Amino acid sequence: MPESDTHRLRMIAARAEEAQIVEVTDLPLGTGIARDVVRDGKGILIQDIANETRARPLPGTSTVSGTLICIPMFINTQTTGLMVLTRHTSTEPFTQTDLDLLSMLMPQAAVAIRNAQLYGDGQRRIAELTAALARQKKLDHAKDQFIQNVSHELRTPIAIARGYAELLDNGTLGDLQPNQQEPVAIVARRLKMLSSLVNDINAIFEVEAQRQAFTKVDITVLANNAISDFRILAKSACVNLSENITSAPLVVSGDSIHLRRVLDNLLINALKFTPEGGTITVHLKEAHRHAILEVVDTGIGIPDDKLTRIFERFYQVEAAISHCYGGSGLGLSLVKQIVESHKGTVEVESELGTGSTFKVTLPLLAEANPA
Ligand code: ADP
Repeated sequence: MPESDTHRLRMIAARAEEAQIVEVTDLPLGTGIARDVVRDGKGILIQDIANETRARPLPGTSTVSGTLICIPMFINTQTTGLMVLTRHTSTEPFTQTDLDLLSMLMPQAAVAIRNAQLYGDGQRRIAELTAALARQKKLDHAKDQFIQNVSHELRTPIAIARGYAELLDNGTLGDLQPNQQEPVAIVARRLKMLSSLVNDINAIFEVEAQRQAFTKVDITVLANNAISDFRILAKSACVNLSENITSAPLVVSGDSIHLRRVLDNLLINALKFTPEGGTITVHLKEAHRHAILEVVDTGIGIPDDKLTRIFERFYQVEAAISHCYGGSGLGLSLVKQIVESHKGTVEVESELGTGSTFKVTLPLLAEANPA
Protein backbone atom coordinates (compact mmCIF):
# COMPACT_ATOMS: atom_id res chain seq x y z
CA MET A 1 0.00 0.00 0.00
CA PRO A 2 1.60 3.38 -0.93
CA GLU A 3 1.18 5.86 1.88
CA SER A 4 0.67 9.03 -0.09
CA ASP A 5 1.72 11.43 2.63
CA THR A 6 4.99 9.65 3.41
CA HIS A 7 5.74 8.15 -0.02
CA ARG A 8 6.48 4.89 1.63
CA LEU A 9 5.27 1.50 0.63
CA ARG A 10 3.89 -0.93 3.16
CA MET A 11 4.74 -4.37 1.86
CA ILE A 12 2.54 -7.22 3.07
CA ALA A 13 4.04 -10.47 1.82
CA ALA A 14 2.45 -13.89 1.69
CA ARG A 15 3.35 -17.23 0.12
CA ALA A 16 0.67 -18.84 -2.04
CA GLU A 17 1.14 -22.25 -0.46
CA GLU A 18 0.77 -20.86 3.08
CA ALA A 19 -2.01 -18.35 2.33
CA GLN A 20 -0.99 -16.18 5.27
CA ILE A 21 1.01 -13.02 5.80
CA VAL A 22 4.68 -13.79 6.35
CA GLU A 23 6.07 -10.30 6.62
CA VAL A 24 5.07 -6.63 6.77
CA THR A 25 7.78 -4.08 5.92
CA ASP A 26 7.85 -0.40 5.11
CA LEU A 27 9.94 0.51 2.03
CA PRO A 28 10.62 3.86 0.38
CA LEU A 29 8.49 4.28 -2.77
CA GLY A 30 11.02 6.39 -4.62
CA THR A 31 12.83 3.59 -6.47
CA GLY A 32 12.40 0.27 -8.23
CA ILE A 33 9.56 -1.38 -10.09
CA ALA A 34 6.93 -0.13 -7.64
CA ARG A 35 7.80 3.51 -8.37
CA ASP A 36 7.47 2.96 -12.12
CA VAL A 37 4.16 1.13 -11.80
CA VAL A 38 2.69 3.83 -9.56
CA ARG A 39 3.98 6.56 -11.87
CA ASP A 40 2.72 4.90 -15.09
CA GLY A 41 -0.54 3.68 -13.54
CA LYS A 42 -0.41 0.31 -15.31
CA GLY A 43 0.85 -3.17 -14.53
CA ILE A 44 4.03 -4.72 -15.86
CA LEU A 45 5.22 -8.23 -16.53
CA ILE A 46 8.91 -9.02 -15.96
CA GLN A 47 9.95 -12.23 -17.64
CA ASP A 48 13.25 -12.67 -15.82
CA ILE A 49 13.70 -11.15 -12.36
CA ALA A 50 17.37 -12.15 -12.21
CA ASN A 51 18.18 -9.81 -15.11
CA GLU A 52 15.94 -6.96 -14.00
CA THR A 53 18.04 -4.17 -12.51
CA ARG A 54 15.06 -2.47 -10.85
CA ALA A 55 14.06 -5.66 -8.95
CA ARG A 56 14.64 -5.91 -5.21
CA PRO A 57 14.22 -9.06 -3.15
CA LEU A 58 10.66 -9.18 -1.86
CA PRO A 59 10.21 -9.48 1.89
CA GLY A 60 9.27 -12.95 2.99
CA THR A 61 10.32 -14.57 -0.29
CA SER A 62 13.50 -16.15 -1.42
CA THR A 63 12.63 -15.60 -5.08
CA VAL A 64 15.66 -14.32 -6.94
CA SER A 65 14.72 -15.71 -10.33
CA GLY A 66 11.47 -16.28 -12.17
CA THR A 67 8.66 -14.06 -13.50
CA LEU A 68 7.00 -11.14 -11.78
CA ILE A 69 3.77 -9.22 -12.24
CA CYS A 70 3.30 -5.86 -10.55
CA ILE A 71 -0.13 -4.19 -10.92
CA PRO A 72 -1.38 -0.92 -9.43
CA MET A 73 -4.65 -0.88 -7.51
CA PHE A 74 -6.90 2.13 -7.95
CA ILE A 75 -9.99 3.37 -6.25
CA ASN A 76 -11.38 6.08 -8.48
CA THR A 77 -8.15 7.73 -9.63
CA GLN A 78 -6.18 7.26 -6.44
CA THR A 79 -3.54 4.55 -6.25
CA THR A 80 -4.31 2.61 -3.13
CA GLY A 81 -1.73 -0.12 -3.47
CA LEU A 82 0.22 -2.50 -5.64
CA MET A 83 -0.04 -6.19 -6.12
CA VAL A 84 3.22 -7.98 -6.78
CA LEU A 85 3.18 -11.66 -7.77
CA THR A 86 6.27 -13.75 -8.38
CA ARG A 87 6.73 -17.23 -9.74
CA HIS A 88 9.92 -19.19 -9.35
CA THR A 89 11.58 -20.57 -12.49
CA SER A 90 10.62 -24.08 -11.38
CA THR A 91 6.94 -23.28 -12.11
CA GLU A 92 5.17 -22.08 -15.24
CA PRO A 93 6.04 -18.40 -15.94
CA PHE A 94 3.47 -15.59 -15.88
CA THR A 95 2.20 -14.52 -19.29
CA GLN A 96 0.68 -11.38 -20.83
CA THR A 97 -2.73 -13.08 -20.49
CA ASP A 98 -2.18 -13.38 -16.73
CA LEU A 99 -1.28 -9.70 -16.57
CA ASP A 100 -4.37 -8.70 -18.61
CA LEU A 101 -6.66 -10.88 -16.52
CA LEU A 102 -5.25 -9.57 -13.24
CA SER A 103 -5.40 -5.97 -14.48
CA MET A 104 -9.09 -6.52 -15.24
CA LEU A 105 -9.78 -7.93 -11.77
CA MET A 106 -7.75 -5.33 -9.92
CA PRO A 107 -10.47 -2.62 -9.50
CA GLN A 108 -12.74 -5.10 -7.67
CA ALA A 109 -9.78 -6.44 -5.69
CA ALA A 110 -8.82 -2.89 -4.68
CA VAL A 111 -12.35 -2.19 -3.39
CA ALA A 112 -12.47 -5.54 -1.58
CA ILE A 113 -9.08 -4.89 0.08
CA ARG A 114 -10.11 -1.35 1.07
CA ASN A 115 -13.37 -2.69 2.52
CA ALA A 116 -11.47 -5.34 4.46
CA GLN A 117 -9.14 -2.62 5.79
CA LEU A 118 -12.05 -0.41 6.75
CA TYR A 119 -13.73 -3.36 8.43
CA GLY A 120 -10.51 -4.11 10.31
CA ASP A 121 -10.20 -0.44 11.33
CA GLY A 122 -13.85 -0.47 12.41
CA GLN A 123 -13.32 -3.58 14.52
CA ARG A 124 -10.25 -2.02 16.14
CA ARG A 125 -12.19 1.17 16.83
CA ILE A 126 -15.04 -0.82 18.39
CA ALA A 127 -12.56 -2.63 20.62
CA GLU A 128 -10.96 0.70 21.64
CA LEU A 129 -14.33 2.29 22.35
CA THR A 130 -15.50 -0.73 24.33
CA ALA A 131 -12.35 -0.53 26.46
CA ALA A 132 -12.80 3.25 26.88
CA LEU A 133 -16.44 2.74 27.88
CA ALA A 134 -15.45 0.14 30.46
CA ARG A 135 -12.85 2.55 31.87
CA GLN A 136 -15.42 5.36 31.91
CA LYS A 137 -17.93 3.15 33.73
CA LYS A 138 -15.34 2.31 36.36
CA LEU A 139 -14.53 6.01 36.84
CA ASP A 140 -18.24 6.89 36.97
CA HIS A 141 -18.77 4.26 39.61
CA ALA A 142 -15.85 5.59 41.69
CA LYS A 143 -17.19 9.16 41.31
CA ASP A 144 -20.73 8.09 42.28
CA GLN A 145 -19.37 6.25 45.28
CA PHE A 146 -17.44 9.33 46.34
CA ILE A 147 -20.41 11.70 45.97
CA GLN A 148 -22.63 9.22 47.74
CA ASN A 149 -20.25 8.91 50.70
CA VAL A 150 -19.76 12.66 50.99
CA SER A 151 -23.45 13.50 50.78
CA HIS A 152 -24.27 10.76 53.26
CA GLU A 153 -21.71 12.11 55.74
CA LEU A 154 -22.98 15.68 55.23
CA ARG A 155 -26.60 14.84 55.92
CA THR A 156 -26.49 14.69 59.74
CA PRO A 157 -24.23 17.72 60.44
CA ILE A 158 -26.25 19.85 58.02
CA ALA A 159 -29.53 18.73 59.58
CA ILE A 160 -28.23 19.67 63.06
CA ALA A 161 -26.86 23.04 61.92
CA ARG A 162 -30.09 23.76 60.07
CA GLY A 163 -32.16 22.87 63.17
CA TYR A 164 -30.20 25.31 65.35
CA ALA A 165 -30.23 28.02 62.69
CA GLU A 166 -34.01 27.74 62.46
CA LEU A 167 -34.38 27.84 66.25
CA LEU A 168 -32.32 31.03 66.27
CA ASP A 169 -34.18 32.47 63.30
CA ASN A 170 -37.66 31.91 64.73
CA GLY A 171 -36.70 33.26 68.14
CA THR A 172 -37.05 29.97 70.06
CA LEU A 173 -33.56 30.46 71.51
CA GLY A 174 -34.26 34.05 72.50
CA ASP A 175 -34.54 37.40 70.82
CA LEU A 176 -31.85 38.38 68.33
CA GLN A 177 -30.31 41.82 68.11
CA PRO A 178 -31.74 43.73 65.10
CA ASN A 179 -28.35 43.56 63.35
CA GLN A 180 -28.28 39.75 63.85
CA GLN A 181 -31.69 39.00 62.36
CA GLU A 182 -30.86 39.23 58.68
CA PRO A 183 -27.57 37.25 58.84
CA VAL A 184 -29.25 34.51 60.87
CA ALA A 185 -32.15 34.39 58.39
CA ILE A 186 -29.66 34.03 55.53
CA VAL A 187 -27.79 31.24 57.34
CA ALA A 188 -31.08 29.42 58.02
CA ARG A 189 -32.22 29.81 54.40
CA ARG A 190 -28.88 28.65 52.96
CA LEU A 191 -28.73 25.66 55.28
CA LYS A 192 -32.23 24.72 54.21
CA MET A 193 -31.14 24.81 50.54
CA LEU A 194 -28.01 22.83 51.34
CA SER A 195 -29.98 20.22 53.20
CA SER A 196 -32.46 19.81 50.36
CA LEU A 197 -29.58 19.46 47.87
CA VAL A 198 -27.93 16.79 50.00
CA ASN A 199 -31.28 15.03 50.47
CA ASP A 200 -31.91 15.09 46.70
CA ILE A 201 -28.46 13.63 46.01
CA ASN A 202 -29.01 10.90 48.58
CA ALA A 203 -32.46 10.20 47.14
CA ILE A 204 -31.02 9.89 43.61
CA PHE A 205 -28.54 7.29 44.78
CA GLU A 206 -31.18 5.45 46.76
CA VAL A 207 -33.43 5.19 43.71
CA GLU A 208 -30.51 4.23 41.47
CA ALA A 209 -29.44 1.50 43.85
CA GLN A 210 -33.11 0.40 44.06
CA ARG A 211 -33.00 0.76 47.81
CA GLN A 212 -36.66 1.72 47.92
CA ALA A 213 -39.14 0.25 50.37
CA PHE A 214 -42.18 -0.69 48.29
CA THR A 215 -45.50 -0.97 50.12
CA LYS A 216 -49.11 -0.17 49.26
CA VAL A 217 -49.34 3.60 48.97
CA ASP A 218 -52.56 5.54 48.55
CA ILE A 219 -51.78 8.46 46.23
CA THR A 220 -55.03 10.17 47.25
CA VAL A 221 -53.86 10.37 50.87
CA LEU A 222 -50.38 11.44 49.77
CA ALA A 223 -51.77 14.24 47.58
CA ASN A 224 -54.11 15.52 50.29
CA ASN A 225 -51.27 15.56 52.82
CA ALA A 226 -48.95 17.40 50.44
CA ILE A 227 -51.59 20.03 49.68
CA SER A 228 -52.31 20.72 53.33
CA ASP A 229 -48.56 21.00 54.02
CA PHE A 230 -48.15 23.51 51.18
CA ARG A 231 -51.13 25.68 52.08
CA ILE A 232 -49.19 27.95 54.42
CA LEU A 233 -46.32 28.33 51.95
CA ALA A 234 -48.74 29.17 49.13
CA LYS A 235 -50.53 31.67 51.32
CA SER A 236 -47.32 33.42 52.30
CA ALA A 237 -46.34 33.55 48.59
CA CYS A 238 -49.81 35.00 47.79
CA VAL A 239 -50.52 32.12 45.39
CA ASN A 240 -53.89 30.32 45.31
CA LEU A 241 -53.66 26.60 45.90
CA SER A 242 -56.69 24.70 44.70
CA GLU A 243 -57.42 21.01 44.35
CA ASN A 244 -59.51 18.65 42.33
CA ILE A 245 -58.80 15.34 43.96
CA THR A 246 -60.82 12.15 43.69
CA SER A 247 -62.24 10.84 46.95
CA ALA A 248 -61.47 7.25 45.89
CA PRO A 249 -58.28 5.64 47.16
CA LEU A 250 -55.73 5.21 44.36
CA VAL A 251 -53.34 2.58 45.61
CA VAL A 252 -50.02 1.91 43.94
CA SER A 253 -47.06 -0.23 44.87
CA GLY A 254 -44.41 2.26 45.84
CA ASP A 255 -42.07 3.93 48.26
CA SER A 256 -44.18 6.51 50.09
CA ILE A 257 -41.21 8.73 50.99
CA HIS A 258 -40.01 8.91 47.41
CA LEU A 259 -43.51 9.36 45.98
CA ARG A 260 -44.02 12.20 48.41
CA ARG A 261 -40.80 13.74 47.04
CA VAL A 262 -42.40 13.70 43.59
CA LEU A 263 -45.35 15.74 44.85
CA ASP A 264 -43.14 18.04 46.93
CA ASN A 265 -40.78 18.79 44.04
CA LEU A 266 -43.62 19.52 41.61
CA LEU A 267 -45.37 21.74 44.16
CA ILE A 268 -42.17 23.54 45.17
CA ASN A 269 -41.43 24.29 41.50
CA ALA A 270 -44.99 25.46 40.85
CA LEU A 271 -44.70 27.77 43.85
CA LYS A 272 -41.24 29.02 42.88
CA PHE A 273 -42.19 29.83 39.32
CA THR A 274 -45.69 31.25 39.86
CA PRO A 275 -45.85 34.96 40.63
CA GLU A 276 -48.07 36.52 43.27
CA GLY A 277 -51.78 36.26 42.48
CA GLY A 278 -51.25 33.12 40.38
CA THR A 279 -52.91 29.76 40.92
CA ILE A 280 -51.66 26.23 41.42
CA THR A 281 -54.17 23.42 40.97
CA VAL A 282 -53.56 19.79 41.85
CA HIS A 283 -55.72 17.28 39.98
CA LEU A 284 -55.88 13.60 40.86
CA LYS A 285 -58.07 11.01 39.18
CA GLU A 286 -58.08 7.45 37.94
CA ALA A 287 -57.95 6.60 34.23
CA HIS A 288 -57.28 3.24 32.58
CA ARG A 289 -56.11 1.64 35.83
CA HIS A 290 -53.63 4.44 36.44
CA ALA A 291 -53.45 7.27 38.94
CA ILE A 292 -53.20 10.52 36.99
CA LEU A 293 -51.74 13.40 38.96
CA GLU A 294 -51.44 16.86 37.47
CA VAL A 295 -49.84 19.93 38.99
CA VAL A 296 -50.98 22.93 36.97
CA ASP A 297 -49.63 26.42 37.51
CA THR A 298 -50.15 29.84 35.99
CA GLY A 299 -46.46 30.67 36.29
CA ILE A 300 -43.69 31.86 34.00
CA GLY A 301 -43.79 28.77 31.75
CA ILE A 302 -40.94 26.91 30.05
CA PRO A 303 -39.68 27.43 26.48
CA ASP A 304 -40.61 24.61 24.08
CA ASP A 305 -37.02 23.66 23.31
CA LYS A 306 -36.23 23.22 27.01
CA LEU A 307 -39.13 20.92 27.85
CA THR A 308 -37.09 17.72 27.67
CA ARG A 309 -33.90 19.23 29.06
CA ILE A 310 -35.51 20.23 32.39
CA PHE A 311 -35.49 16.55 33.38
CA GLU A 312 -31.70 16.40 33.08
CA ARG A 313 -29.61 16.54 36.23
CA PHE A 314 -28.56 20.05 37.27
CA TYR A 315 -30.34 21.62 34.29
CA GLN A 316 -32.01 24.96 34.91
CA VAL A 317 -33.70 26.91 32.12
CA GLU A 318 -32.14 30.18 33.12
CA ALA A 319 -29.57 29.58 35.78
CA ALA A 320 -29.72 33.22 36.87
CA ILE A 321 -33.51 33.20 37.25
CA SER A 322 -33.61 29.74 38.84
CA HIS A 323 -30.84 30.78 41.18
CA CYS A 324 -32.82 33.63 42.62
CA TYR A 325 -35.68 31.17 43.28
CA GLY A 326 -33.24 28.71 44.89
CA GLY A 327 -32.84 25.11 43.80
CA SER A 328 -30.12 22.98 42.31
CA GLY A 329 -31.62 21.64 39.10
CA LEU A 330 -31.93 18.17 40.60
CA GLY A 331 -35.63 18.20 41.47
CA LEU A 332 -37.17 17.16 38.15
CA SER A 333 -34.50 14.58 37.34
CA LEU A 334 -35.30 13.02 40.69
CA VAL A 335 -39.05 13.20 39.94
CA LYS A 336 -38.50 11.38 36.64
CA GLN A 337 -36.23 8.79 38.18
CA ILE A 338 -38.65 8.05 41.02
CA VAL A 339 -41.71 7.92 38.76
CA GLU A 340 -39.96 5.62 36.29
CA SER A 341 -38.78 3.36 39.11
CA HIS A 342 -42.53 2.99 39.87
CA LYS A 343 -43.18 2.07 36.20
CA GLY A 344 -44.86 5.40 35.64
CA THR A 345 -44.31 8.37 33.36
CA VAL A 346 -43.95 12.11 33.78
CA GLU A 347 -44.84 14.62 31.07
CA VAL A 348 -44.88 18.38 30.86
CA GLU A 349 -46.81 20.89 28.80
CA SER A 350 -46.06 24.54 29.06
CA GLU A 351 -46.54 27.90 27.48
CA LEU A 352 -44.22 30.80 28.18
CA GLY A 353 -45.92 33.45 30.27
CA THR A 354 -49.05 31.32 30.74
CA GLY A 355 -48.04 28.38 32.89
CA SER A 356 -47.04 24.74 33.07
CA THR A 357 -48.70 21.39 33.65
CA PHE A 358 -46.73 18.45 34.99
CA LYS A 359 -48.56 15.14 34.60
CA VAL A 360 -47.53 12.00 36.46
CA THR A 361 -49.08 8.64 35.57
CA LEU A 362 -48.62 5.69 37.91
CA PRO A 363 -49.99 2.16 37.44
CA LEU A 364 -52.49 1.15 40.13
CA LEU A 365 -52.10 -2.00 42.15
CA ALA A 366 -54.43 -4.56 40.54
CA GLU A 367 -55.69 -6.19 43.75
CA ALA A 368 -56.51 -2.90 45.50
CA ASN A 369 -58.65 -1.65 42.63
CA PRO A 370 -60.45 -4.62 41.07
CA ALA A 371 -61.93 -3.87 37.64
P1 ADP B 1 -34.67 23.50 40.36
O1 ADP B 1 -34.06 23.06 41.62
O2 ADP B 1 -33.86 24.52 39.62
O3 ADP B 1 -36.11 23.87 40.49
P2 ADP B 1 -35.70 21.29 38.81
O4 ADP B 1 -35.00 20.09 38.27
O5 ADP B 1 -36.81 21.04 39.74
O6 ADP B 1 -34.58 22.19 39.43
O7 ADP B 1 -36.23 22.14 37.59
C1 ADP B 1 -35.36 22.41 36.52
C2 ADP B 1 -35.72 23.71 35.86
O8 ADP B 1 -36.97 23.57 35.18
C3 ADP B 1 -35.95 24.86 36.81
O9 ADP B 1 -34.71 25.47 37.16
C4 ADP B 1 -36.81 25.78 35.98
O10 ADP B 1 -36.02 26.50 35.08
C5 ADP B 1 -37.68 24.79 35.19
N1 ADP B 1 -39.00 24.54 35.86
C6 ADP B 1 -39.35 23.49 36.62
N2 ADP B 1 -40.63 23.57 37.00
C7 ADP B 1 -41.11 24.71 36.49
C8 ADP B 1 -42.38 25.36 36.53
N3 ADP B 1 -43.43 24.84 37.18
N4 ADP B 1 -42.52 26.54 35.86
C9 ADP B 1 -41.47 27.06 35.17
N5 ADP B 1 -40.25 26.50 35.09
C10 ADP B 1 -40.06 25.33 35.74
